[in-house]
Amino acid sequence: MNILPQHTRHPREFEQNRFVYPVLSRRSRGISVGVNLNPDKVCNFDCIYCQVDRRSESETRFVEFDQLFGELEAMLTWTASGEIFTHPQFASVPESLQRLNDMAFSGDGEPTTYRNFDVIMERAAELKRRLGLDAVKMVLITNATMFHRPAVERGLAILDQNQGEVWAKLDAGTSEYYHLIDRTSIPFQRVLDNLLRAAQVRPIVIQSLFMRVEGVGPTEAEITAYIERLKHIRHEGGQLARVQIYTVARPPAESFVSALAPGEVESIAARVTSETGVVAEAY
Ligand code: SF4
Repeated sequence: MNILPQHTRHPREFEQNRFVYPVLSRRSRGISVGVNLNPDKVCNFDCIYCQVDRRSESETRFVEFDQLFGELEAMLTWTASGEIFTHPQFASVPESLQRLNDMAFSGDGEPTTYRNFDVIMERAAELKRRLGLDAVKMVLITNATMFHRPAVERGLAILDQNQGEVWAKLDAGTSEYYHLIDRTSIPFQRVLDNLLRAAQVRPIVIQSLFMRVEGVGPTEAEITAYIERLKHIRHEGGQLARVQIYTVARPPAESFVSALAPGEVESIAARVTSETGVVAEAY
């Protein structure tokens, strides 16, 4: 799931690593250690703005537990010690950002489709405890399509107990627009139900990416419908920690997709804040 657009904004490979990579995140004010649970590049969405390069075949098809946790332990240790900031790629990071903020589970696909998602979360939490990194967050970047699966529910509960945050994608207010943007056979209602279910248990962060499609941005009616979805979550007892509104940052897979102007992103964020009461940030 890459909206943070983050998902795909950064290189997935760092030196010889196959699953774990460090990213300087200005938004998190520190280093985020990314964990790619979809090395096969398979996703249950096919977002028109996705930046995962699916034309080139990946060399790694499966998550290899021992390799992944070996890389994760080495990366967390290297980053927490500050040694990472002697590496040429991170040597110019300002002192105020020289800290380890989180490990982020995203990938070249949807991380919660990983069958043993709860086992991965448990082992990552154990590793964090063993390294004495209790304050380091565990961030899940997701499209929310699999929250109804028991293994994912268990994984989310593990996150809740270990400084976890759920950053869930919602790119539309109507089913038509959702299918246009996210190109999936999964019904929109399942995503909405899953967002509500998750938000009723813990505060979640909503990430929304709006763009022009063939030169046309989302209509006022679409944004109104989107805001109604957020209001419904709150009305039903769901908690929204904040909303992050983005547009495309880099050339996406499809050439008919282009960015909104910064003012347009800010105006959607301002509407969300004033109409839902939840703080929306524009990126
Ligand atoms: S959900 Fe899948 S297709 Fe959509 S942006 Fe994320 S990785 Fe790409």
